[in-house]
Amino acid sequence: MPTSICPECTEEVFVDAETEQGDSVNCEECSAHLVVVGLDPIELDLQDEANHDDPSKGDDFDGYDYDDQRY
Ligand SMILES: [Zn+2]
Repeated sequence: MPTSICPECTEEVFVDAETEQGDSVNCEECSAHLVVVGLDPIELDLQDEANHDDPSKGDDFDGYDYDDQRY
C-alpha cells in the first residue's frame, strides 16, 4: 500500500492503491483531512475547509434589464 507524509503531523499516511488525484484521505495520526494533490509520488495537502467558495454569491444581474427594446 502506498504511503505519503501528512503535511500536518509529518507522520506516514497510508493511501489506497486505487486513490486518484483529488481524493480525500484522513490522517490516522492527527485525523487531518487531506487531499491527494499528486500521484507519482503521492502528495497530500491539507483540505482547507474554510476556503469554500460560495457559487451563489456574486453580482446580481437580474435587477437590470439589458434588453434594449426600440420601436
Ligand atoms: Zn497527520
